[in-house]
Amino acid sequence: MRFFVTEDRISGDLIALEPTDAQHVSRVLRMHPGEEITVCCGNGKAYSCALEQVGKTEVTARILSEEDYNNEPTAFVTVYAGLSKGDRFDYLIQKCVECGVSHIVPFTSQHCVVRLENRDYEKKQQRYARIALEASKQCQRSRVVTVGEIVPFETALKQAAQSDCGLFLYEKEQQKSLSTVLREAQGSAYAVVTGPEGGFSEKETAQAQEAGLACVSIGPRILRCETAPVAALCAIMYQTGNFDIGE
Ligand code: SAM
Repeated sequence: MRFFVTEDRISGDLIALEPTDAQHVSRVLRMHPGEEITVCCGNGKAYSCALEQVGKTEVTARILSEEDYNNEPTAFVTVYAGLSKGDRFDYLIQKCVECGVSHIVPFTSQHCVVRLENRDYEKKQQRYARIALEASKQCQRSRVVTVGEIVPFETALKQAAQSDCGLFLYEKEQQKSLSTVLREAQGSAYAVVTGPEGGFSEKETAQAQEAGLACVSIGPRILRCETAPVAALCAIMYQTGNFDIGE
């Protein structure tokens, strides 16, 4: 059984599990002191541990050994995605985590179907972070993928423009394809900006070009808003050798 903790939960050779994991260990798995678990904390190591103290809400484990464990991609991809309805955004987060994304930033834009009240932001952000955590555990990432605050489109553009390779996914793009841009890309920090169900407005597309992002097509088919970023992410992973197993 593998668990994630933040590094501040390690003190000496003792690790304190996150409260939700502690409850899972004690109430669901009904584990006992002495039983072994694996703990990752995103520092490129995996700790084999023996449960030390198993309480209802607090569980500590003693580190027995550690090994290098870093299955993170060498390309650091941030997906900036227009908020979409229902479980579409959940699906986008889960599949991007499995395919190697490092960070996800939700944004609101002109054609977003989802209209959030301010009071909903907090709840949405917690939900998205939980989905990213569960997906990180399931696919055995060595660090937890993070989901940023929901920001306006302009803020997402500003952040995306800081990357080495800023990609703006645009289904009406006729000149530049993703594969061409990826072949020429330098650096390891990628930004993928992808639209909501309703796509991007002409104004937003012009803003993206002014911000220096590369407007790219990912082929002649119109992909759903939850599919497009995953397809682009996989192309980046492939191009940068992050789908290889070093054979
Ligand atoms: N405007 C589209 C339509 O009328 O059906 C809907 C947009 S699509 C569902 C959502 C987003 O996926 C787009 O904003 C774009 O970022 C991305 N996308 C979908 N297909 C694409 C393609 N072939 N090339 C580049 N981006 C694509």
